[in-house]
Amino acid sequence: MKVTFLGTGTSQGIPVIGSEHPVCSSENPKDKRLRVSILIEWDDYTYVVDCGPDFRYQMLRSKCTKIDGIIFTHEHSDHVAGLDDIRPFVYRQGDMPIYAHKRVLEAIRTRFAYVFDDNKYPGVPSVKQIEISNEPFYLNELKVIPININHNLVQVFGFRFNDFVYITDAKTVSNDELGKLKDVKVLVINALREKPHHSHFNLEEALNFIAKVQPEKAYLTHISHLLGFHDEVQQKLPENVYLAYDNLEITFKK
Ligand SMILES: [Zn+2]
Ligand SMILES: [Zn+2]
Repeated sequence: MKVTFLGTGTSQGIPVIGSEHPVCSSENPKDKRLRVSILIEWDDYTYVVDCGPDFRYQMLRSKCTKIDGIIFTHEHSDHVAGLDDIRPFVYRQGDMPIYAHKRVLEAIRTRFAYVFDDNKYPGVPSVKQIEISNEPFYLNELKVIPININHNLVQVFGFRFNDFVYITDAKTVSNDELGKLKDVKVLVINALREKPHHSHFNLEEALNFIAKVQPEKAYLTHISHLLGFHDEVQQKLPENVYLAYDNLEITFKK
């Protein structure tokens, strides 16, 4: 199984437009972050988690030419705004399966009303909606376990694919849901910045969460420029914790 970090930045990405913050003018490619998304591949299958405003460029950059489906964590713009750019995949493959909570599918239908119009304009994208709840579901033969996450007022799904867990936009996770993370080997978790935030883990909260879950390795994502330079932050992290960066690939046993 291979995971590619297509984007690791918070909602505005890094650099932020017009920002004079030193991280936003860093020359280090690891300090340039598109909006969060991952590509997850096993056997001949390729799925994407979230489809934010950078989706088109992320597909070009990762040379991805086929997607078997898109799984959504929640309906915020930085996670859904790129949906129109699935068109090249739809023309080649047919309707794109999209997996999401009922509420997220509703939000997508509102935001992209033209995709669901009875009288569709020729060429608009087409999707196959697959509603998921807090119950395991299958992507081809692979079992996926949703994990219910609180993002302040918004419910978010994290996902467990065997020993790999991807969670973004978490602020709290209930103890019941924590049970689903037992024996996880690789954990991806959001860490926005050092200062607390009303709807995202800051670095300290993310590290506390990692200490509770005890994965073999953890990667931090959904990062703001305010967290600091990649290389400096990485030096301060515990031994098994890594700051993810765009284009980072990790492989592990399925
Ligand atoms: Zn987000
Ligand atoms: Zn969000």
